[in-house]
Amino acid sequence: MNCYSAPGPAPRRKSRQVRVGHVVIGGDAPVLVQSMTNTDTADAAATVRQVGELARAGSEIVRVTVNNAEAAAQVPRIRDRLDHMGINVPLVGDFHFNGHRLLSQHPACAAALAKLRINPGNVGRGAKRDEQFATMVEFACKYDKPVRIGVNWGSLDPELLARMMDENARLREPEDAAVVTRKALVASALESAHLAERLGLPHDRIVLSCKVSGVQDLIAVYRDLAARCDYALHLGLTEAGMGSKGIVASTAALSVLLQEGIGDTVRISLTPEPGGDRTKEVIVAQEILQTMGLRSFAPMVIACPGCGRTTSTFFQELADRIQSYLRAQMPVWRDRYPGAETMHVAVMGCVVNGPGESKHANVGISLPGSGENPVAPVYVDGAKTVTLKGEDIAGEFQKIVEQYVIDKYSKRSVAAETASAPDTAHA
Ligand code: SF4
Repeated sequence: MNCYSAPGPAPRRKSRQVRVGHVVIGGDAPVLVQSMTNTDTADAAATVRQVGELARAGSEIVRVTVNNAEAAAQVPRIRDRLDHMGINVPLVGDFHFNGHRLLSQHPACAAALAKLRINPGNVGRGAKRDEQFATMVEFACKYDKPVRIGVNWGSLDPELLARMMDENARLREPEDAAVVTRKALVASALESAHLAERLGLPHDRIVLSCKVSGVQDLIAVYRDLAARCDYALHLGLTEAGMGSKGIVASTAALSVLLQEGIGDTVRISLTPEPGGDRTKEVIVAQEILQTMGLRSFAPMVIACPGCGRTTSTFFQELADRIQSYLRAQMPVWRDRYPGAETMHVAVMGCVVNGPGESKHANVGISLPGSGENPVAPVYVDGAKTVTLKGEDIAGEFQKIVEQYVIDKYSKRSVAAETASAPDTAHA
């Protein structure tokens, strides 16, 4: 008897649901994956191409920079072209400094967007700040668009920070400057949200974020924010960095918060390698959510790291091939074979852990390590079904995986399984 059951994350924090285009953020909706383009939005063709790539990779909301008149003018065209291509991913406009002017001069831009992102540290100074912030919120109200009030460590409202530092300095026991800065981030988000509501933006049209680049800072800020409001929260470590550093830092920060039930959408702000693939940030976000058991996006490939018992790269190549194959099939499989995204496929390097791990997977293969017979037993739902050998082990294994998906997840077989299942409701 299996007495072990893995503890899950804490119940999701109860946040107010926000509708963004055709998707819903917060409440009991799944944690959504967001991404952002890095094309010049004024280059509509390049932006449409990249939004399409991000959406096909699984991004459920895509943000685009709206930094000048040319970009604002192209947003409605970008939306139109995406619609014609059947890509209905909601677009979010990222505004800084001149958002009030761009929205006033290009109202069609506001109409085409599904959400506006306003950074309260970058809307102006002094009296202009409130006036320009109000103009943007008025556009959100007029076009019935939700707003993300996105505070960022690198552009925190300097007047607010100075005021809070002064207040802190007058305390008998002043707090550390880093603590005051974290409090200022949260205050900036909450004060701006309350101001937006006083200007007429409904409570359920507001999402908050407070992005910082340090893992511990991010965790502290979001715990505070989550405890003090019920606005939906967008999570992300800003300026996470390149390659493994960016992935590890984002994963460390987001995992802690998601495990505590905090976070309604996520974005992984990876710096792409020159010429690198922007969709990497989508894949990483999906993999964080999937490995934590929060959502399923694509079948998971379990592969051993290899060691001195594997003297060729064959098993690494097979693991890579199967992983790429499974991910490439998902746009079709998602509709045709619902549930396939929950499947586990094991590709193991030798007999030490190969058969055991393969038996735990839906489909697994234990490849021959050095010194073993050149044969590869395959396990399906825990039982050994065939032993592959010869030149085309990879091709044959891929066919077995594909057949498993067809047999197990086609809508017809799921319906037949349900129909033949014993009715235990009245047992
Ligand atoms: S399964 Fe075999 S090849 Fe893979 S890490 Fe373990 S001992 Fe090494």
